Amino acid sequence: MLDKNKALVVFSGGQDSSTCLFWALKHFNEVHTVTFSYGQRHALETEMARRLAEKAGVDFHLMDIPLIGSLGSNSLTDASAVMDEKKPEGTFPNTFVPGRNLFFLGIAAVYAREHGIKNIITGVSETDFSGYPDCRDSFIRSLNVTLNLAMDEQFVIHTPLMWLDKAETWALADSLGVMDIIRNETLTCYNGIPGDGCGHCPSCRLRRAGLEKYLARRHDYDDSTQAIEMIQE
Ligand code: ZN
Repeated sequence: MLDKNKALVVFSGGQDSSTCLFWALKHFNEVHTVTFSYGQRHALETEMARRLAEKAGVDFHLMDIPLIGSLGSNSLTDASAVMDEKKPEGTFPNTFVPGRNLFFLGIAAVYAREHGIKNIITGVSETDFSGYPDCRDSFIRSLNVTLNLAMDEQFVIHTPLMWLDKAETWALADSLGVMDIIRNETLTCYNGIPGDGCGHCPSCRLRRAGLEKYLARRHDYDDSTQAIEMIQE
């Protein structure tokens, strides 16, 4: 029997999944995290995740699945590859790890079942620049059905960021009262630099552009309340 008050966050220690962690803490009584080590270039990523989970007072589980990174070639696990600056025409950036969210969510669901957790939370977003197919809403809905059929359970996959752009994701962090934590204690940079990062990789540029857009908007109001209203609940 799955407990509807329990949630599992697929957690990388980056801006998106960290925002989802605090979103989960607001909505569920008992929150777990699972972090995957799959041969990322930067070991600091999983270490940042562990520290943040500790700070948030939630369970942290690191799972080692190097197979995923070694199956195909991509620039997140291959240190010699140069990252695509933008999405190449008709294909995906070479930061795409084929099947990553399929594996992650599949493993997360097994973990959730073993721990009686009904809710699974992932920080995927369709509005991300990359257009990764396994970040799309249709994929997540389809997988949710598949996982339920696979284990004869009624999991609910939540995607709080699915329709938010980066500015709205910052607004969500602000509304949850964790703006500074997300800004300073998460790692999104492809060059492995925490917080505001290297400033020039595609991930840093996306993160910073969103932050600037949100802060400009926030500045227009006396407090953050109205700026946050742009997030659709
Ligand atoms: Zn960077």
